[in-house]
Amino acid sequence: MRIEKAFCVELGKSLDIEQAREAYFAQGKRRRFTFLCSDERCRASDPRIGVRVSGVNYDKLPNVDTIFKTAHFRRQDPHIPSCYWMEIKEAEDLERVSNNGNDLVSALTAKGMTVITRFSIPKTIATDTEQNEEQDEIDQIRTKPSREERISAYRKLFSGGGSSSKSLESLVSCYEELKHEEALDISIHVDSHGNYSFKDLFCHVANIKKDDRFHVYYGGAKLYKRYHPGFSLYFFDDVDVGNGGQRLSLYVDKQNAGRANHLAETVDVAESNPQSYLTVYWIGGVREEERGLAVDINSLRHLALRFKVPQNRG
Ligand SMILES: [Zn+2]
Repeated sequence: MRIEKAFCVELGKSLDIEQAREAYFAQGKRRRFTFLCSDERCRASDPRIGVRVSGVNYDKLPNVDTIFKTAHFRRQDPHIPSCYWMEIKEAEDLERVSNNGNDLVSALTAKGMTVITRFSIPKTIATDTEQNEEQDEIDQIRTKPSREERISAYRKLFSGGGSSSKSLESLVSCYEELKHEEALDISIHVDSHGNYSFKDLFCHVANIKKDDRFHVYYGGAKLYKRYHPGFSLYFFDDVDVGNGGQRLSLYVDKQNAGRANHLAETVDVAESNPQSYLTVYWIGGVREEERGLAVDINSLRHLALRFKVPQNRG
């Protein structure tokens, strides 16, 4: 059963799984959260404990060495029939029977993978308060008065199978899992940018600026310096944006890194494993600086790091 959002009891608001991860790592003393169904009537239906939802892996750092399952919410207690996640399940079941979905996406989903087929670029300004909680397509469909209309709208929304995400972290975890499954030809729709295959959406730094399309850039990098909790990294590959190959670096200052503990901690792990390196994924571009090129991002929500240990192929 698809559950893309849950109500966090400790924070008193509904979150998606990446917001839950950010909030978890932002705590001084880390405690796992209690989640209930994000449907108001559904969670009130059991006045004793509410309808609980489990949060899986949001308290872990995405570490690619041992691919663990992407963070997600999982059903724990039974939901009421009018709960929107139940209506979405019904719509998806109907859609599956009429066999319109992508077979490979359905097969991977059946294996327990979260395959993202719709992505919206994360907003750079945090919308943290309950009042500002962003309305997504599901929220809009929920307001339709007729059940029939809602089911038909959900069927349309989820017709290709797969999930939607507004998180670069989730997208990167999905990409790395699909790469492992040799399934990078799966298509993904990026809001305001159109359709891609995963292979085309992700662009290695060596090919940067080869076209004008939106991409998620990535490349291997080594830790250069710490400015605890800040850091700077150098990429292995020089990058040519028209002035010959130049060195590319990423710098995240103390203050910013302090607001993104999950990134700083991934760098900590790399720092304590000298043979390791990091794969840097980002949305944005590069800018020219005095000493070469620098990764240019608008927000740390547009940056994801994965710790890697070189494979010993001996
Ligand atoms: Zn529910």
